[in-house]
Amino acid sequence: MSKLVGLVGWRGMVGSVLMDRMEQEKDFDLIEPMFFSTSNAGGKAPAQAKNETALQDAFNIEALKRCEIIITAQGGDYTSEVYPKLRAAGWNGHWIDAASSLRMEKNAVIVLDPVNMPVIKNALANGGKDWIGGNCTVSCMLMGVGALYKAGLVEWMSTQTYQAASGGGAQHMRELLTQYGTLNAEVRSLLDDPKSAILEIDRKVIAKQRALTGAETANFGVPLGGSLIPWIDKDLGIGKSQDEPGWGMSKEEWKGMAETNKILGQGEGFSTAAIPVDGFCVRVGAMRCHSQALTFKLKKDVPVADIEAMVAADNEWVKVVPNTREATIQDLTPVAVTGTMTIPVGRIRKLAMGPEYVGAFTIGDQLLWGAAEPLRRMLRILLDA
Ligand code: NAP
Repeated sequence: MSKLVGLVGWRGMVGSVLMDRMEQEKDFDLIEPMFFSTSNAGGKAPAQAKNETALQDAFNIEALKRCEIIITAQGGDYTSEVYPKLRAAGWNGHWIDAASSLRMEKNAVIVLDPVNMPVIKNALANGGKDWIGGNCTVSCMLMGVGALYKAGLVEWMSTQTYQAASGGGAQHMRELLTQYGTLNAEVRSLLDDPKSAILEIDRKVIAKQRALTGAETANFGVPLGGSLIPWIDKDLGIGKSQDEPGWGMSKEEWKGMAETNKILGQGEGFSTAAIPVDGFCVRVGAMRCHSQALTFKLKKDVPVADIEAMVAADNEWVKVVPNTREATIQDLTPVAVTGTMTIPVGRIRKLAMGPEYVGAFTIGDQLLWGAAEPLRRMLRILLDA
């Protein structure tokens, strides 16, 4: 008989992409799904339902306890409230989660099987039950350049990210597009007149951006359309001395080093030293896909051709983009990558600081490899176990 698998958060941003991918890969053929809701218990479950056709209350511990596996993309507050109660009630099933709440817990594995299958297998053999998707930027980065880490070549890495509005969820995407529309409307007549003065357009746009109301910037707090925001998530650096590395660090930036090392099974909690990863995380006005410029200090001088070959051979989704202007502008943009499973890595070149310093640029659809895909693949690993 098929395993009873609970799905929570299936209609949100990550959940919808997850449902799409599960359909495409015929995952529903292998399970008995049971759909939960925090807002519509008793309502009709989606078309993928088989015997369990009514939506269950996502806070009902007894209903959740019936499931052998639960996949949730509901969010961190939900996990923090429900997960401890469920375990306290004696539930011993597998918990697969998109939220960050449990990621750094000792018993939790951050799942990204093309990169860390040995870590997953080891945890499974030791009775692991908590399988958490990684931070979207970290997962996309490791899908692209994980080969360099696996080969033990990385002494340290610095990241500068360009993260899309959808990283914040559906409301954030709407806000960005509405701002673009508002700015366009402000200067439309001037744009229609090819003889109008560009400085007048410029002045009107900046005046409008600065005049956007609280309602027009409710999600990001400041304008994002035609601008950028060099801070993502909470401030983690408060309380530290200004001269310590963690001072003035955003939580998104902190995840870079903590999660990269945990996914690879090294650093805190493992017997090996952590590899330093640090940089700046920036929100930009892209709709979807997180992009990042990477600077590596390698442990030795490795020829660019060898680096390209290692990266290209690492998994079936990574694609090396030749470091030419034409290939870069065609293949290495959020517009090219959105909605695809491909992880392009380009701009691979030696940097001026010395032969061990290598630069690269990579992009991933953060809703696919950065969120939904590792979760559904973990479900498959459990079904095959
Ligand atoms: P989201 O779009 O806000 O969805 C979360 C929940 O909001 C839904 O499951 C739904 O729950 C409820 N909801 C309320 N109104 C809704 C509406 N109009 N449409 C759809 N759902 C609505 O959040 P998310 O971006 O998917 O994120 C879920 C989790 O994944 C978070 O922990 C997030 O940190 C993590 N994550 C997100 C990304 C990303 O790029 N967005 C990437 C990696 C990880 P009910 O059906 O129960 O009402």
